[in-house]
Amino acid sequence: VVDIQGLSKSFGSHEVLKDINFSVNKGEVVTIIGSSGSGKSTLLRCVNLLEKPSGGQIIYNGENILDDKHNVHQYRKNLGMVFQSFNLFNNHNVLGNCVVGQIKVLKRSKEEAEKIAKKYLRVVGMEAYVEAKPRQLSGGQKQRVAIARALSMEPDVMLFDEPTSALDPEMVGEVLKVMKELAGTGLTMLIVTHEMEFAREVSDRVVFMDKGVIAEEGTPEQLFNNPKMERTKAFLQRTR
Ligand code: ATP
Ligand code: MG
Repeated sequence: VVDIQGLSKSFGSHEVLKDINFSVNKGEVVTIIGSSGSGKSTLLRCVNLLEKPSGGQIIYNGENILDDKHNVHQYRKNLGMVFQSFNLFNNHNVLGNCVVGQIKVLKRSKEEAEKIAKKYLRVVGMEAYVEAKPRQLSGGQKQRVAIARALSMEPDVMLFDEPTSALDPEMVGEVLKVMKELAGTGLTMLIVTHEMEFAREVSDRVVFMDKGVIAEEGTPEQLFNNPKMERTKAFLQRTR
């Protein structure tokens, strides 16, 4: 679905991403792992154009969306994003959170939007909380609502940036469980995570980033059991 070619990103003179090449195919689950500061979030933010890449191409459905003629807003409708920090709208209840984007961006009717929102709130196990305000929810519940909100836009690709790293340990499992279920439904997912067991279980491919480059990429089997690069081995040692 998305094909990244020769992507680079600098902040001033600091080159944070260098010649990044990888793709996510329809129905694939790709996870990105790597040390803090290696550029994982910046890469995800470049994929959805929250950051403007300094160079390279992002090919979506055969077209380079970095061409001037492409509309950023049009492109973004195809991507769902889940952040570390939930970013729910605190003044809206759970249902409202899952409905506003559908009405404003996709121009769906309120009835249709609510029907779709409830469907995805059921998927994440939050259908009983439609009336709740975000402040009444636990971190794990908030993140599940954030996932339902992104799913309600019915994007082609879901991007997750460390969706469990702001959670109390006891809530990590419920979010990972939902994500595993989604992975099993054939949803296309690109996930930055520190959860190595999870990455091993759900990924079709794992991308290991180090200092702004993709140091190694492979199936979970290859990357976790049989890493080729010294720096991959060193990273995996540190996370055990
Ligand atoms: P973590 O695991 O801690 O989330 P990460 O792999 O996601 O790390 P990034 O957040 O992508 O790393 O950051 C990569 C580098 O880019 C870091 O050195 C960071 O300081 C720098 N960086 C990120 N965003 C900006 C910005 N807006 N302005 C300047 N430098 C930035
Ligand atoms: Mg990050």
